[in-house]
Amino acid sequence: MTNKSIFVTQPYLPPLEEFLPYLQTIWNRKVLTNGGPYHQDLEKQLCEYLGVKHISLFTNGTIALITALQAMGVSGEVITTPYSFVATAHSLLWNGMRPVFVDVDPQTLNIDPLQIEKAITPQTSAILPVHCYGRPCDVKAIQEIAERHDLRVIYDAAHAFGVKDAGGSILRHGDLSVLSFHATKVFNTFEGGAIISPDEATKRHIDHLKNFGFVDEVTVVASGINGKMSEINAAFGLLQLKHIEAAVARRKQIDATYRQQLESVQGITCPEPPRGVQSNYSYFPVLIEPEYPLQRDELYEKLKASNIFARRYFYPLISEFPMYRDLPSTANENLPHAKSAASRVLCLPIYPNLGDEDLDRITAVIKG
Ligand SMILES: *Cc1c(COP(=O)(O)O)cnc(C)c1O
Repeated sequence: MTNKSIFVTQPYLPPLEEFLPYLQTIWNRKVLTNGGPYHQDLEKQLCEYLGVKHISLFTNGTIALITALQAMGVSGEVITTPYSFVATAHSLLWNGMRPVFVDVDPQTLNIDPLQIEKAITPQTSAILPVHCYGRPCDVKAIQEIAERHDLRVIYDAAHAFGVKDAGGSILRHGDLSVLSFHATKVFNTFEGGAIISPDEATKRHIDHLKNFGFVDEVTVVASGINGKMSEINAAFGLLQLKHIEAAVARRKQIDATYRQQLESVQGITCPEPPRGVQSNYSYFPVLIEPEYPLQRDELYEKLKASNIFARRYFYPLISEFPMYRDLPSTANENLPHAKSAASRVLCLPIYPNLGDEDLDRITAVIKG
């Protein structure tokens, strides 16, 4: 029996015919990049969709993270989570900053504010939390700590496109929030990213930084980088935005089906987003507990044998990679909850084109 492969995610591609007119327009205009009309339009439409005031588009989320840290003038030590994609901490190394890892909350798997406070030293200048799986961090506690110790807060919101809490977009929290529009994310521009700024002056500074520091033809105000999003990527974003509500709605159905199907399975828990959160259903993490007949890696392999490619996000922890593992903050006893989650977690396939028959296949393997 040959079953088609099911990956943890599949990029959302609207019909090609819908994209061709955008390409024709780019060919006619001959404006390929440097803040062209599609770029400007996407910034405007994203502000409306996300419910934010100021956004700067980038070539990818990692360059956006690196630039966000530059824009805040951060230096020395930055407190962050080991339970994330490696780009979170890499953005610190690229800025010559020292990551200080602290543990996550065992329930939310987001950075634990109590641990943040304990890790602050005179060298600490910022906190870099991640809204892991798009589930909001304890933004209130983090804000209070930041104010008490005069620290900047830069949220890695790569998973959090469109997520809202009771007060609106979760991207409004902190000094800056950074999005990724990589092909694997809920909203993609093939490659892409963005920084959400609280005010016009900050956005303008970030726009200079992503264009080599140029303010005008003859004035360079900072050692900026090239982080500009091209017109093709922006055009694809505009098209993708037309489909985003339907795409998230299908994700929501898949999320509900998994919960219903897996509810009765001993030893599989499906952590839920906090109450009052409008989710984007970007990931479907499950935790494999000792009551389940297989270990996490055994289930991962069993799914693989059925051509189902779940992913162990986030295993290994960032703190276990060679460029981090000798830091004092990566000591085993410092990160018990992150370690435990990394050993139990499995992210199941979730994406708009995942069919009900695919879901049946996946849950059948898990139910054994
Ligand atoms: C995807 C991701 C990034 C990096 O974004 P790119 O657009 O791929 O550069 C950073 N942080 C987290 C948590 C991510 O998931």
